Amino acid sequence: MLKGSCCCGAIQFQLNNLPTMMGTCHCSRCRKLGSSTLIFVQKNDFILLQGQEFIEKFQPEPPFHYTRSFCKKCGTALGEIGSTNDSFPIPANCLDDHLPLNIQFHVHVASKPHWYEICDSAPQFLENPN
Ligand SMILES: [Zn+2]
Ligand SMILES: [Zn+2]
Repeated sequence: MLKGSCCCGAIQFQLNNLPTMMGTCHCSRCRKLGSSTLIFVQKNDFILLQGQEFIEKFQPEPPFHYTRSFCKKCGTALGEIGSTNDSFPIPANCLDDHLPLNIQFHVHVASKPHWYEICDSAPQFLENPN
């Protein structure tokens, strides 16, 4: 079991199993939100312990379509926390416990700023390979 929370602690959650994947997205959207390294959790493994009332959603204008959640008290990016999809991404930054995984892929590497150097050997994709 892994515990996670936002910066102010209003939102607390736990994962009953390890995430299925972890990867870094270098797109400008994830970069601006400070949520570039994402873990993908199974809906059934995710339990919100407290703070539902602090989860705010940002719905972008087209062509962007991913709804982004954040804590409305402290601003911590929470990815698609609470999504109704079977699996959804949340930023690895939110975890409080040790995560025994390495980054498995990099996507949108074409959008990566030059000042960010990739220092692992995980596969890199210029866009999103789907
Ligand atoms: Zn917070
Ligand atoms: Zn992204």
